[in-house]
Amino acid sequence: MSKTEGTAPTTRISSFLLLVVFVTLALSFVALIFGISTIDQSSEAASVLLLLGFLGVALSTYVLFQTRRRLAKMRIVVPPVVTTIECKKCGFKNVREFQRGDYIFKEGEPCQKCNDKMLITAIYREVKDKEKGHVSV
Ligand SMILES: [Zn+2]
Repeated sequence: MSKTEGTAPTTRISSFLLLVVFVTLALSFVALIFGISTIDQSSEAASVLLLLGFLGVALSTYVLFQTRRRLAKMRIVVPPVVTTIECKKCGFKNVREFQRGDYIFKEGEPCQKCNDKMLITAIYREVKDKEKGHVSV
């Protein structure tokens, strides 16, 4: 129960994709080098190789940037989990970060106002709106 399993499956997928991208990049560079070296012998073959090389480099860098942007987005988007604790007696409400072992209707720390025992009433992900009250459309 004490072990943390925080390895997301997305990291495995992205590392595989990274491998594919790098293989494509390497092959494209080989094509570019061959294209440059054959430029004197036959311009047709050289141009085809150069085109393939440039295409490969462009495609792999595009995919790389897209996945990096997506990963960065995923990291930012995950909002924190918060716990709401309420006092049944005086109605005092406290919101704090979720702690291990929190569950709904668990007795929390004593109330800051009346010192009565507080109750956890909600556990949820806090989704922050970037522009609250700024209604467009
Ligand atoms: Zn209270």
